[in-house]
Amino acid sequence: MIRLRDAFNGVMTFIIRRMHKPLRWDDRCGYITVFHDYEGAYSSPSRKEPSYRGVTQLLEIEKKHNVKASYNIVGKLFDDCPEIIERIISEGHDIASHSYNHKVITKFSLKQIDEDMKKSKEQFDKYNVAFNGFRSPQSRWCFGLIRSMQANGLKWSAERDRSDYPYIIHKKGKDSIIRFPIKMDDWDYISDNVSSDTMFKKLIGVVKEIRKKRSYGAIGFHPWVQGETSERLDMFETFLKEIISMDNLKIKSFGEMYNSIIKI
Ligand SMILES: [Zn+2]
Repeated sequence: MIRLRDAFNGVMTFIIRRMHKPLRWDDRCGYITVFHDYEGAYSSPSRKEPSYRGVTQLLEIEKKHNVKASYNIVGKLFDDCPEIIERIISEGHDIASHSYNHKVITKFSLKQIDEDMKKSKEQFDKYNVAFNGFRSPQSRWCFGLIRSMQANGLKWSAERDRSDYPYIIHKKGKDSIIRFPIKMDDWDYISDNVSSDTMFKKLIGVVKEIRKKRSYGAIGFHPWVQGETSERLDMFETFLKEIISMDNLKIKSFGEMYNSIIKI
């Protein structure tokens, strides 16, 4: 089912992309961001254990292959599992917000969105980490969220988006919010119960398309989805090894992408 808001967002982002030049920093290769929406028990209490297993194993795999990913973290987890948050930061990954408690943002009033943003920022402040990016639960976002991000000093938004490049989605004065388009995530494991082989082929297909077009795309995983079976974690490692070995393709976190864009 296509939601009315998704259709509206699709039309608006199409118009916005035509108003601003695409942010093409270097078109000699394609760029991928590997990210994780880290939710712990906040998407469902039964997912707490697979989420823990998933996040620790994903960190191991990324350390082994020296990949810097982006972790979009539900704010309450900063209090629940500080050792994981510290590990994510100390191992050089980016962190961003996946909301304070994983409620659907589009059901909030503008005041509630602003409160969510402020509570999330307090969590980042406790760890002395810059609060720069936001990814909505279920990728359900609205322009009120983007304005609240701008008012709270954030720099980028990552959501499902048809663009092949990052672009400026909102600009007010000197400040702008950059949209990083998400091309795919691991939800097919849950919605269609696909095998890890099928998932691998789909992921590689998306990456090859990005490489061919020398464009950009973010690809996401959920620690609890990955942590449910060892096959999925093995596939994640195989996928990382495969994309690391590809020429004309670079893996950069959202923060690294943002920094390479603003230097131009
Ligand atoms: Zn989520």
